[in-house]
Amino acid sequence: MTSRFDRRNQFDNDLLELAADCRRQVRPVWERIEEVAYRNLSRVLAAFRELKISESDLGTSTGYGYGDTGRDRLEELYARAFEAETALVRPQIVSGTHAIALGLYGLLRPGDELLATTGRPYDTLAEVIGILPSPGSVAELGVSYREVELSSGGAPELEGIANAVGPRTKVAFIQRSRGYAWRPALSVKQVGEIVRAVKAANPATICLVDNCYGEFVSDGEPTAAGADLIAGSLIKNPGGGLAPTGGYIAGLRDLVEAAATRLTCPGLGRKVGPSLGMNRLYYQGLFLAPHVVGEALKGAVFAALLFERLGLEVSPRWDEERSDLIQGVRLRSPEAMVAFCRGLQGQSPIDSHVSPEPSGMPGYADSVVMAGGTFVQGSTIELSADGPLRPPYAVYLQGGLCTEHAILGALAAAQGLRAGGHLGRRKGGK
Ligand SMILES: *Cc1c(COP(=O)(O)O)cnc(C)c1O
Repeated sequence: MTSRFDRRNQFDNDLLELAADCRRQVRPVWERIEEVAYRNLSRVLAAFRELKISESDLGTSTGYGYGDTGRDRLEELYARAFEAETALVRPQIVSGTHAIALGLYGLLRPGDELLATTGRPYDTLAEVIGILPSPGSVAELGVSYREVELSSGGAPELEGIANAVGPRTKVAFIQRSRGYAWRPALSVKQVGEIVRAVKAANPATICLVDNCYGEFVSDGEPTAAGADLIAGSLIKNPGGGLAPTGGYIAGLRDLVEAAATRLTCPGLGRKVGPSLGMNRLYYQGLFLAPHVVGEALKGAVFAALLFERLGLEVSPRWDEERSDLIQGVRLRSPEAMVAFCRGLQGQSPIDSHVSPEPSGMPGYADSVVMAGGTFVQGSTIELSADGPLRPPYAVYLQGGLCTEHAILGALAAAQGLRAGGHLGRRKGGK
């Protein structure tokens, strides 16, 4: 980091020195991330090659979307990249929550049971499942719900899960990412262990994985480890920063088709749905995703070390294995969360002048503070930070289309914390 950079951004000199030192220290971890990105891109490219993806696939459709071969071939491409039988990849899927909900509504019928195997699911699913009463929820259909907590260390309780699966357990739900919880993300291997425990108890139970933030973080997706269905958002990892909206669901053919009847309707399923100009962006985004995910991960590793050296508790630590993009940083108060987010916001390309305020958000029970001056609204593959204003007052930092931006954002957040008096005193400069 040069002194010119320093003057423009008004970072304290000792912070810049610390940043330079952190960048040296994380290099071996960055190299491992780059290796994973090479392997994932190689798998994605092999899928492009095998399917002979062509310029004619990049076109578009309107109205019903009949005969949109680019859309259909994109879905085949996703299926190959995710080692799934088939996939549904659509701009009509508004978000990750919507993609997961399609899976739930597609599969669950009155009298069935839904079992969460990884504790309380992500906040926005509470109203979908009916944990928070809500019109139209899965609970309203007469589906019962239970959950098995993770261990205090955040590991799946395989025995507890096997015991909880019964004859009525139609769907076992697995959340890979930490979401807004202070626990490690599950590795793909751990997801596979849950799937085996569930299937041993009831082979007919369908394992649905919330794969949000997990795509391309490691070698292979949960579908390769036995999951029946995975779902996620295109404005997170697999859209590569280019997708302006959308979601996907991938896995076994009959299950994906069941989900498609809920996206459109029975009889139409996946046969309709215009791509509305998204095809090229979705193809190109998937092509970029392994690299972009690597860039964001390198930024997260840097941030973990930076904030740890500034005396804060972080999860995961910089040299821990990762299975999602999220970097938790534990602050000590709601005010510190706001200061962190305001600092980061100042390094955003869009709306850098805006000052984040905590507020209510559809689907979230607690008030949430968010920083994210992104090109795509709410995109969290772009650099962003957010967190619910509740103990342990953790902000979750994620994304960054390039590592340089993630580093600048983390530094600005640190500067924001310091300016607000939210950093304890640190010994020495290192
Ligand atoms: C982001 C996320 C979701 C879905 O959120 P959307 O904002 O609807 O895309 C679900 N689960 C987890 C763990 C997530 O991180």
